[in-house]
Amino acid sequence: MITTARRMNTSGLNQGTSGNLSQRVEDGFLLTPTGMDYDALVPEDIVLMRFDGSHEGRRAPSSEWRFHRDILARRPEVGAVLHAHSMFCTTLACLRRGIPSFHYMVTTAGGADIRCAPYATFGTEELSQHAVEALEGRKACLLANHGMLALGKDLAGAFKLAVEVETLAAMYWRALQVGEPVLLDAEEMARVIEKFKTYGQQPALKG
Ligand SMILES: [Zn+2]
Repeated sequence: MITTARRMNTSGLNQGTSGNLSQRVEDGFLLTPTGMDYDALVPEDIVLMRFDGSHEGRRAPSSEWRFHRDILARRPEVGAVLHAHSMFCTTLACLRRGIPSFHYMVTTAGGADIRCAPYATFGTEELSQHAVEALEGRKACLLANHGMLALGKDLAGAFKLAVEVETLAAMYWRALQVGEPVLLDAEEMARVIEKFKTYGQQPALKG
């Protein structure tokens, strides 16, 4: 948890202490504490939370514990949730623009686009509901006037996807400076999703 939290800082995903991170465990989930500098974190600062919203440990959980809980509760295939106010995702989110099919790599977030969830005040049940809906069939979304969310089977997966989504947001933002990017059609995006199912899988060598 702490290693990934610090990687959020060094990778530039984090702006100040705005990010947070959760990981599913047997009896609930681990969550980063509220408002703490990740460089100062020690294992005792990580909060153990249960799905009823109760928590254990010496620190108060991140104020965004609701969306971590609701996503982990609704998505059994997800083992880790990363939230950040990364520069380019947040820039697009302030324009209330999602990331459309301007590049085939958008499919790494699970579908033909990356949605932007409607705005709601941070830490609220309403924001959590908007996030869960925007993540339907997806592993990442933007949050209007706020930031982004990336999901993974584990912390490494969530981190990798967050970096990818931030890179796509930066590319899309740059393309928008010059003109209106050409979008790939639904048929092509479906073809890419199909192709990615076998991409990178080497057939086992015989003998
Ligand atoms: Zn936030």
